[in-house]
Amino acid sequence: MSSASPGGRPPLSPPSFADLWRDLEPLGRDPVTGGYRRYSWTPADAQCRAWFTRQAEKRGLTVHPDANGNLWAWWGPQEPGAVATGSHLDSVPDGGGFDGALGVVTALAAVDLLQENNFYPERPLVLVTFTEEEGARFGLPCLGSRLLTGVVDPNAARDLTDDAGVTLAQAMTSAGLDPAQIGPDPALVEGLSAFVELHVEQGRALEPMGSAVGIAEGIWPHGRWRLDFTGQADHAGTARLADRRDPMLAYAGTVLAARRAAAEHGALATFGKVIAEPGGSNAVCSAVRAWLDARAADEATLSETVTDVRSAAERCSAEQGVTLSVRQESRTPVVRFDEGLRDRIAGVLAAAGMPAPVLPTGAGHDAGVLAARLPTAMLFVRNPTGVSHSPAEHADLADCEAGVRALALVLRDLAGPK
Ligand SMILES: [Zn+2]
Repeated sequence: MSSASPGGRPPLSPPSFADLWRDLEPLGRDPVTGGYRRYSWTPADAQCRAWFTRQAEKRGLTVHPDANGNLWAWWGPQEPGAVATGSHLDSVPDGGGFDGALGVVTALAAVDLLQENNFYPERPLVLVTFTEEEGARFGLPCLGSRLLTGVVDPNAARDLTDDAGVTLAQAMTSAGLDPAQIGPDPALVEGLSAFVELHVEQGRALEPMGSAVGIAEGIWPHGRWRLDFTGQADHAGTARLADRRDPMLAYAGTVLAARRAAAEHGALATFGKVIAEPGGSNAVCSAVRAWLDARAADEATLSETVTDVRSAAERCSAEQGVTLSVRQESRTPVVRFDEGLRDRIAGVLAAAGMPAPVLPTGAGHDAGVLAARLPTAMLFVRNPTGVSHSPAEHADLADCEAGVRALALVLRDLAGPK
């Protein structure tokens, strides 16, 4: 009901961020690469979930997992009008420590800051960690938030498979969940009045501006396409070049064409995952499976870029006598975050002496999925090198703590007395 520091003054007590960070840091980190392998429904994921649950309960929050495996930690009663914040704890293969985790840790530290300032939310505050945001295991990014909001068919989701052929349904069952229950939860979604996701910046816009924290304007449309090049397996030492039907050549030509198409359209096109089958070092492979990630500032440019890559793949395949199939695995339309909420957040931060510039981004987030259903905003914390989805991803402690203060101010404004 009350706040110890009314009138828009920032809470001043030092945040608990560093302690929380140290505690989470070792979970799911590969000792050799230093990168994170926090894939959904694996032991590393279970450790992260247990950590979050423990930390939330320590703060007096009540944790309710939803049917899709997203964890919701309630401060106050589970009632409509709740203000939500959080991010995800899963990672890309050998991902950085900040992507997703920063939003979850800052949310917990922001609760500490608010509690230290004797704040109690007038509207319930809920912290969330979404499942399979990266799509690193089952190929569909933002799976937890898409299932929650009903934009992905639960039947199709249950049949998604990982690289070992394990279905989502099997993985959830092994983790002790009932995959029959997955799907939309309109009551939960409609009970949220706002969602604010804090995230490490994936890019390097804040550094030259000298700002620790920024506010998202929107998210570029983006998607993933799977390309299967099928040729003929043969002996690397005896098959004559003229006789080969080598899918690797068709794939290689496509990669180069994707780079050209991206440059021509001012877009981004990336092949970051490829599987050669059967994968013998002394054989022409029988098939190459590759995943194209494409992003652009608008829908038309994205479509044109993908069409160009696809035509190149068809041409390269025909030249090599290789069969091609292309399947869109996901496509996310352009997201424009709620302007009213953005302006309100900008006002709160500016009044507290933390002016935050507004930035566009090419990276997808659960906030982008929720933005279609409720007022949603994002805060970015400066990434000095801009590198992300890599063990080199970094944010300075002082900037992370500035993120905690910014998030606490925003939550106090949204969930506090009017
Ligand atoms: Zn993320």
